[in-house]
Parts: sequence; C-alpha cells; structure tokens
Amino acid sequence: MSEHMTPPPSTPADAMEVDVCIVGAGPVGATLACRLAVEGLRVVIIDRAALPPMEHPAFDGRAYAIAAGSRRLLEAAGVWGNLPMPSCDIREIRVTDGRPGERPSPLFLEFGREDATEPFGSMIEARALRVALNATLHAKPGVTVLAPDEATVVRRAEGALVTTRSGRTISARLVVAAEGRRSPLRTQAGIVVTRLPYHQCGIVCAVAHERPHEGRALEHFLPAGPFAQLPMAGTAEHPNLSALVWTDEEKLAHRLAELPAEAFTHEIHRRMGDWLGAVTPVGRRWVYPLSAQYAQRYIDTRLVLVGDSAHGIHPIAGQGLNLGFRDVIALSDLLAGVQARGGDVGAPDVLRDYQARCRPANMLMLAATDALERLFGNDNPVLRLARDIGLAGVNRITPLRRAFARHAMGL
Ligand SMILES: Cc1cc2nc3c(=O)[nH]c(=O)nc-3n(C[C@H](O)[C@H](O)[C@H](O)COP(=O)(O)OP(=O)(O)OC[C@H]3O[C@@H](n4cnc5c(N)ncnc54)[C@H](O)[C@@H]3O)c2cc1C
Repeated sequence: MSEHMTPPPSTPADAMEVDVCIVGAGPVGATLACRLAVEGLRVVIIDRAALPPMEHPAFDGRAYAIAAGSRRLLEAAGVWGNLPMPSCDIREIRVTDGRPGERPSPLFLEFGREDATEPFGSMIEARALRVALNATLHAKPGVTVLAPDEATVVRRAEGALVTTRSGRTISARLVVAAEGRRSPLRTQAGIVVTRLPYHQCGIVCAVAHERPHEGRALEHFLPAGPFAQLPMAGTAEHPNLSALVWTDEEKLAHRLAELPAEAFTHEIHRRMGDWLGAVTPVGRRWVYPLSAQYAQRYIDTRLVLVGDSAHGIHPIAGQGLNLGFRDVIALSDLLAGVQARGGDVGAPDVLRDYQARCRPANMLMLAATDALERLFGNDNPVLRLARDIGLAGVNRITPLRRAFARHAMGL
C-alpha cells in the first residue's frame, strides 16, 4: 500500500489493510485478484461459495471460448499454466445461415488460418478454469481468500471498511464488485441497470462425434437463435468432442433439453448437419435464460463494477466472459500504474479513467451482439437474403474479414 495512505477514521486498530477488496470470485473477480497480486498489490477476495484449492469436479459439459487477448491475461495472471487439462485452439470459424432440417445457405463467411497469425481463441472447460483459478488464488502470497463468506461494505471518500460474517475487518482503498449479474453492491450504490430480455434460453451441452473437428467452430444462425459448435480437447473416453451453445425460444428450449438422448441427437443433427458424423450427447444439459443488461455507470465512491456486474450480453458471439476479462486488463493496468507512482488506487480520477476506458467499448459490443441477434433471429426472406449477401461479401473482402477476426480475438 502507498505510504501516504491513512486508514478511514473509525477503522479498528486490528483491521487488515489492503489496496483492493474484491467481492465475488467468479472467473472475472478471481483473475483480477491474481493479476493485481502479480503487480504487487495487496488483495482480499471474498465469495459466498467455497473455493477449494484441490478439488477436480466431474466433466459437466460447460466450456468457455477464450479470445486470444483473454488468454494473454490468464497467462500474465499465472492462471493459464495451472489449467489441469489441455485447451483446444479454434483455428477456423464458419458462419452460416439457415433453417433447422435444411442445408445451410451456400452464401457463408469463413475465418481461416490465413486470417490470423495465431488461433482465434481457445476452448477450455469451465471446471478446468475453476480449478486453475482456485489453485492460483491460494498460491499467491499477496491474496487473502475468504470463502465461503459474505461482506458488509461501508464506503466513504477516505476509504472503505469491509466486515465479514466470519468476523474479519478489512480496510481497503478500493472495493471491486465482481458478483455477477445480480450484484448487491451495485444495488447498494444505487446504480441503475437497463435490461433487455430476449425471451430465449441457451441450451449448453457437449457432444462426442465420429469425425475430428480439426479445430473448426460453427456458428449457424437459425430463425429461433444461433446454434454454435465449438471444438474441445478430446478425452481418453471421447477423443472427438465439441461444446454446443444452442439458443431457442424459452419454452421450446426447456422441452428440447428434456428430450430422450435419441430425439435430442436428432434435433442436433437437424441444426448442425452431419459434417462431424454421428454425434452422442455427453454430460449434463444446461438451460440458461438469456438477456442483456448494462449498468448506467461502472463507478461510485471507492467502488468499481467489473464483469457481469457491469454488463451482460447475448452469448451469440461467445464474448461475455471475454468482455469481463477486458475490464480486468484495463483495471489492472491502471491500478498497477497508480501503485507504482505511490498514488491512491481508489481515487475518483482513477475510477473515472477506468470507466472511460471500458464502458464505451463494452456498450459497442452489447449493441453489436444485440443487433446480430435481431438481424439473424428472424425468418423474413428479404432480411435473409440481405444477411446472406452480407456474409458472403465480408467473406470475399480479406482485410474486412481479418478486421472482424482481430476484434473477436480481443486484440
Ligand atoms: C449460455 C451461456 C454461455 C456462455 N458462453 C460463454 C463463452 O463461451 N465465452 C464467454 O466469454 N462467455 C460466455 N458466457 C458468459 C459468461 O458465463 C459470463 O460472462 C461470466 O460467467 C461472468 O463472470 P463473472 O465473474 O463476472 O460473474 P459470475 O461468473 O456470475 O461470478 C460471480 C461470483 O460472485 C459470487 N457472489 C455473488 N454475489 C456475492 C456476494 N454478495 N458476496 C460474495 N460473493 C458473491 C458468486 O458466488 C460467483 O462466484 C456464457 C453465458 C451463458 C449464459
């Protein structure tokens, strides 16, 4: 902590003093804690849920598409090296348009190896990221992990005082709300959230398949919502494995997810075709209601919002967590600079700088995913033709295609 820092007036003498207190140890909060610790900041991280350092949960079919920029962040935070199982590079992405049970439109957009000097991103199992985050958090000397625990936060201009249910008192320069979409700290700060319901659900599961995916991902736009197949690293039992994120109308999604294996497999083939040969669902099927939301501001006295507490977007482009990681990159760069100059990491101008760096770009991504959902999520024949021509047009213009690819990679 910087030398000029004086604790807030009523801070108890035995309070633990830190630079940053992060509430919420989801992927965004936990990565931020690890990254800040690398920069020498003292951090406390608090989560309602337990964060066991050694537990390896069973395969559950959920995975994240990690953009190249996010992977660099995880490497810099010391998390990537602790992944307990291999990731899978995404080397090609094919974007198509169609209807269930029909062949996709012959006009399509394909990002290939010639569009980027490195893979577009990496698929990692959600449980692998969790294991790596927990292991890294517990190994960093600058990080104190309080979990399962809950915090009461009092923020004043001079600093924040955090008391936990377990009886700890912490004095912090800055509190970070990383509590996910329903952030109590955001509500406490009176920050208004705007929500855009989609009346859709995302079905998430994994499938084993007959033929190898060769690192290719498919984003197939259907009238009820996009169907994405994302390549995963195989296991001994299932050498050819992919994750599916499949959007459908709310009621239908629940019915589809409850179908017996054979009928469910048939519905997958109707949407994905048979380019991977026969498919077999593996692991659980998850159904998530989909909506977008954004906070009207990301900051308040001694408080910043990061990740889903600040913004939630449609999973159409698999960018939700990647946006949260962009917040982490901006905030950790900023705080490391302030710390190096001996400044106050929770000062109002630092927080304003963070908001200015992140919010406009995040709003742009939210608007783009919302527009994509509206453009592709309908069956109007004129719109269908226009978007197919658009896809094929981008496909033919190499610099434009590469620009799209770089943006999706978070570079
Ligand atoms: C169907 C679907 C598919 C997706 N696929 C992708 C993908 O492929 N790629 C991608 O980039 N993104 C994807 N996303 C988005 C991604 O899951 C989220 O953006 C990401 O989980 C947000 O992380 P977070 O850490 O901000 O919040 P969360 O993951 O919600 O974590 C919040 C944490 O805070 C804790 N917490 C909450 N309240 C408190 C409290 N008061 N006190 C203490 N702890 C608290 C919780 O226990 C939790 O650990 C997908 C989302 C959906 C719905």
